[in-house]
Amino acid sequence: METRILKGRPVAAEIREEVSMRSKALRNRGVVPTLSIVQVGDDSASEIYSSSIRKAGDKHGVNVVLSALSKESSAMDVAERIAALGADPSVHGIIVLEPLPHGIPSDVLEGIPPAKDVDGATVRNLGLLVAGRSSYAPCTAQAVVEMLVRSGIEISGRHVVIVGRSPVVGRPLANMLLRKADNANATVTVCHTGTRDLSAHTRAADILVAAMGVPEAIRGDMLADGVVIVDVGVNRIDDPSSERGYRVVGDVAFDEALSVAAAITPVPGGVGTLTTSLLLLNTVDAAMRDDIKAP
Ligand code: NAP
Repeated sequence: METRILKGRPVAAEIREEVSMRSKALRNRGVVPTLSIVQVGDDSASEIYSSSIRKAGDKHGVNVVLSALSKESSAMDVAERIAALGADPSVHGIIVLEPLPHGIPSDVLEGIPPAKDVDGATVRNLGLLVAGRSSYAPCTAQAVVEMLVRSGIEISGRHVVIVGRSPVVGRPLANMLLRKADNANATVTVCHTGTRDLSAHTRAADILVAAMGVPEAIRGDMLADGVVIVDVGVNRIDDPSSERGYRVVGDVAFDEALSVAAAITPVPGGVGTLTTSLLLLNTVDAAMRDDIKAP
């Protein structure tokens, strides 16, 4: 079987084109779509993520503003900054970069107003998803759905098996796919470390989403012929033959899946490529909703 490789780049380009068109329309009405990034401390991964969001924003008409706080900031300082951005009518989206420095509970994120919570980080937005109502989902979970839908893969009526139940991927994704909507309406099974006989579940999947954080844990013999695989995992493994001494792999043994799966997302270059674009798309969406509400 020829396995289709579902690359993220063309899908991300399509989303960015939509961002550019919508931000242009907003700017023509005098609205500058604005995303605030709250970054506390100097975590290097956060620095890289924040700079890639700013670069993408510059290119596609979204004003991305860094709201930096020192690593000595208290939980109150962070909460006050989030509250100020929440009350600022020129800010349409807010993302707080994690990990937060030790001593700052992730509860501070709950101060983001749901309408500005463009990365679906708050319990309120997760609750709306569980209730089947419209809300922003975490961009990684959204990336899985966008990848499937924009690649023309039918979700409705199919059995989606998700391995992983974290609040940023597995749980929101399961609830997104359960919605009675055209691009959802799936039968969903969620697996985790307490699941007995994981292979029996993965082999029953029409669509398999791996979000475990365990390198190449899903082997070829755990897959059914013709399965569609979305690999969310991003894992570094030692590789002395590589210049950096490591390489990045997913949660699925890619080469073993190639002879079995109908389609698979690669790692790197798969769903991870979509998250920044979706963050911008959600910001533009939030700005449009706000514009419609304005008197
Ligand atoms: P997480 O919070 O550590 O959750 C992992 C989930 O996988 C847990 O629910 C865990 O079960 C389950 N799990 C782990 N080992 C398992 C096993 N052997 N069998 C069955 N279930 C198992 O991780 P996460 O934040 O969801 O991230 C998952 C992966 O996605 C990571 O590789 C991460 O780097 C990647 N990720 C990528 C992006 C991106 O591309 N932008 C964003 C976020 C995450 P329990 O609940 O029972 O512990």
